[in-house]
Amino acid sequence: MSIWNYANPQLRDLVAYEPGKPIDDVARELGLDPSEIIKIASNENPLGPSPKAVEAMKVAVEQAHIYPDGGAYYLREAIAKKFGLERPNVILGNGSSEVIEFVGHAFLTPGDNIVVSRHTFSIYKLMAQLFGAETIEVPDPHFTHDLDGIAAAVNERTKIVFVNNPNNPTGTIVSQAQLDAFIDKIPERVVVVFDEAYMEFLDEPLDTVKYIQAGRTNVITLRTFSKIQGLAGLRIGYGLASKELTEVLQKTREPFNANLIAQVGALAGLLDEDHQKATRELTKEGRDYLQRCFASLGLKYVPSYSNFILVKVGNGKRLFEELQKRGVIIRAMDSYGLLEWVRVTVGTMEQNTRFIRELNHFVEPPRTQEVPKCH
Ligand SMILES: *Cc1c(COP(=O)(O)O)cnc(C)c1O
Repeated sequence: MSIWNYANPQLRDLVAYEPGKPIDDVARELGLDPSEIIKIASNENPLGPSPKAVEAMKVAVEQAHIYPDGGAYYLREAIAKKFGLERPNVILGNGSSEVIEFVGHAFLTPGDNIVVSRHTFSIYKLMAQLFGAETIEVPDPHFTHDLDGIAAAVNERTKIVFVNNPNNPTGTIVSQAQLDAFIDKIPERVVVVFDEAYMEFLDEPLDTVKYIQAGRTNVITLRTFSKIQGLAGLRIGYGLASKELTEVLQKTREPFNANLIAQVGALAGLLDEDHQKATRELTKEGRDYLQRCFASLGLKYVPSYSNFILVKVGNGKRLFEELQKRGVIIRAMDSYGLLEWVRVTVGTMEQNTRFIRELNHFVEPPRTQEVPKCH
């Protein structure tokens, strides 16, 4: 007998999410010095956290023996204010990935389905599988969400639709006009999740919160502190939704899911607009540089609106392995079915030029130049 026979059957085929490889793992496996390795694989902020967040967290550490405020009054209040909402419109997660799971907990039963774009964040499908639900994948011409196609794919068993904007791993966006047309086509019984983990990288962010303000009860907008805020290790993110939907989701939440240090660090980070601006500017500079380099190396890439770029390199897995041996961690895309592509996070200019120098060794046909000039 195996205990597997008694576990929920959908768990058998569940393939765990494959994150970017940690620096220490690579160092251990290859006998490299961790300080020589760069990780540009998980869309983290190369500037680190806001110094103000770090200061606030240092102080908060002294209070680590006390349970956090489960209602996270100050942080939810500050988030609500930023978006012109009220505290009951805000739910915190241990990363916004946890809020994705709340939605699954609240709405999915076996036999239901979710609708997503073909190449999008793989957590949605994993989460659906966890609850025994199917995933309907809608083709994405030019790696962009086909919102008409997504709306058309909704059927009577659809419970949730995910729109990741800007989209990971493709870096593409859909426009405000497309979003406005889309929302009108989705029935009120279907929850629409706008996952906006990278929205702060746009100069002019798109607005999905207005649907919530206009009284739609089936919309939730997700943001995270893991990306532009540089607090991925802290595990904190949030959802914005109608009070009714938030109330539903709150029922599925562990009382202390947002820890004390995370609440304090996130609050200080949220208020540090300068750090976010500096990150946005560094990202733009690095992204332009990388895209120019790809063009001069003759590599096809998807023009990105985010802090990562999808680039076609031939054998993605092989490049990933070769670069890893040289201390540069990027992300292979085989788990997304994109065997010829890799995804690279925009780093500091020093990291970007190192990546390009290494990449240059592996492009076909071999280059003569030592470092490509990316004019
Ligand atoms: C990184 C990311 C998130 C957020 O992850 P957390 O660290 O759990 O907040 C959510 N959605 C997408 C598409 C992401 O890339």
